[in-house]
Amino acid sequence: MDSKLREELAAWLEFYRDLGIEDFYRREPETRFETRNSRLETGQYPGLSAPRKTMSAVPGPRIPSPEFPVPSPQPRAPGISPPARSLSLFEAPAPLRRGPETLEQVRADLGDCHRCRLAEGRKTIVFGQGNPHAELVFVGEGPGADEDQQGLPFVGRAGQLLNRLIQFMGMKREEVYICNVVKCRPPQNRTPQPDEIETCSPFLFRQIEAIKPRLVCCLGAPAVRTVLGIKEGISKIRGRFYDYGGTKAFVAFHPAYILRNPREEKILREDFEKIREFLKSGG
Ligand code: SF4
Repeated sequence: MDSKLREELAAWLEFYRDLGIEDFYRREPETRFETRNSRLETGQYPGLSAPRKTMSAVPGPRIPSPEFPVPSPQPRAPGISPPARSLSLFEAPAPLRRGPETLEQVRADLGDCHRCRLAEGRKTIVFGQGNPHAELVFVGEGPGADEDQQGLPFVGRAGQLLNRLIQFMGMKREEVYICNVVKCRPPQNRTPQPDEIETCSPFLFRQIEAIKPRLVCCLGAPAVRTVLGIKEGISKIRGRFYDYGGTKAFVAFHPAYILRNPREEKILREDFEKIREFLKSGG
């Protein structure tokens, strides 16, 4: 394999690994039987006609024979479903789902991440904090200066407001899980760029999947766009519940926005009241 192809393949493998895909399947070479039939169909054996169906198209069990051996199924790790057929790396239609992961496994996979440019200016990776079995997960935008220093999400002024709102719901911060769309502080607290979100967000999705909360609360537009794919202005869509896979998502203003616009705090409190009612109702 030449070095250019090797580099390209390595980049693809890293990309799929970031999406949580670790198993790849190479298309099996043609069996002797299929090779022979395709030659018959293309007239490479003059005087002989191809059978109506190839062996692989005939329904029912395949009977092994010394001429056309049927390969034995390969043992697979528990929790991994076999693909319907062998897939090449480049035609995989959807990520192959692994068994349930823990937050620790997701964190270990993130490692000392340098997958995007945000690694350059960060002090610490801010992975997330809270109850690994939380019913409620808050997703913010990205760490700020305080978070970058301490390695914890929402510990600055916006975090203190979030703490008060959590208490207002009758809960403790330790009961919920808090994380961000990107795990490293963007320079000058700018909004994370689309490619940075695209690179980092698979880890967010894996966190949510590991926790399996009843509700994911998106705080601010970048979280809404990432989790729900909704691009409308947050003022129009806040305060509502949305389907998110088998669970629900809720949209609210980011606490940092409320610090800049204190008159809107009433709206945020109303939204947190809706969250409280949702959790109480068992919805
Ligand atoms: S923001 Fe995410 S993808 Fe980028 S370096 Fe940090 S952890 Fe890695």
